[in-house]
Amino acid sequence: MSSTGIIPPASIGFIGLGKMGQPMVRQLARAGYRVLAHDLDPRAVKRACETAGVEAPGSLKTIASRCETVITMLPDGKAVRSVTLAADGLLAGFSSERLLIDMSSSSPVGTRELGAELAARGIDMVDAPVSGGVRKAEDATLAIMVGGEARTIERCRPVLESMGKQIFLTGPLGSGHAMKALNNYVSAAGLAAAVEAVLAAARFGLDPGKVVDVLNASTGMNNSTLNKFHRFILSRAFDSGFSLDLMVKDLKTALEVARASGTPAPLAHACVDAWSEAQAALGPGLDHTAVVRYWERLAGTELGKK
Ligand code: NAD
Repeated sequence: MSSTGIIPPASIGFIGLGKMGQPMVRQLARAGYRVLAHDLDPRAVKRACETAGVEAPGSLKTIASRCETVITMLPDGKAVRSVTLAADGLLAGFSSERLLIDMSSSSPVGTRELGAELAARGIDMVDAPVSGGVRKAEDATLAIMVGGEARTIERCRPVLESMGKQIFLTGPLGSGHAMKALNNYVSAAGLAAAVEAVLAAARFGLDPGKVVDVLNASTGMNNSTLNKFHRFILSRAFDSGFSLDLMVKDLKTALEVARASGTPAPLAHACVDAWSEAQAALGPGLDHTAVVRYWERLAGTELGKK
């Protein structure tokens, strides 16, 4: 099998044209790759055709048979498994030189299972989840954490470099997905800690905006206080581009990693419980920054612009 990098104008399949998939296919097209894309939602496909010039053959099997590699950017590992192994799915079109790059935030346990099934059919797989959200997808500066065999990663490195700025090799297949879930646990715990602190400060008589400014100049600063509070929470815009449902999924995955490795994680348990209760109380389809409304309900106080 060739270990040469996949470079433009190679054809790349891309499955999952949601909030992240849209800017990612634009970057691939801008780098000179031919992109063949698919999504269950025809409006998402139409948008990618219009804004990124992708081709949409309408069949997963056709995409797999015409592309050197296929990227999945789907809600979770179950969706990746389904598009790969379904009767008319990617595997039906893959020949043995092909490669699956799962850039979704999937469960690492499921990724290892899928990787083993693909390896038995001569197909390579890497997990390459991303961090940085829609904003960093739009300017191709995503952080990408990649698990898999070094030779396979070198093959897809040029593809990943067209979408990301920092490419981290995290270890064997599944390690990227484990890293991503644990990162999002730390991120969600930081957001929750800051929400509780800002609410307590507000109820004690302090101005929420000023509290965030002080945190940002002090040791309590984190990514949420820096990049989310003023812009998405205190403004009440709640439009960061990353959903509450996906965050809860990532938190459950982080707990799965802790369990699978026999690691005590009482704070992660508390975090999963709180975010899951918030999701149940607030309902589906919200931005993850709207989670603050759950803590506001508990406190009977709403944070807002002053
Ligand atoms: P999204 O919900 O906006 O998009 C998912 C897309 O997948 C949708 O367009 C949906 O129609 C499509 N889809 C679902 N099942 C499908 C199937 N079986 N076949 C074809 N298409 C299918 O999600 P997103 O925010 O773009 O996130 C995608 C992945 O990236 C998730 O795993 C998420 O956790 C991760 N992620 C998201 C962000 C972010 O800021 N949004 C950041 C980092 C990682």
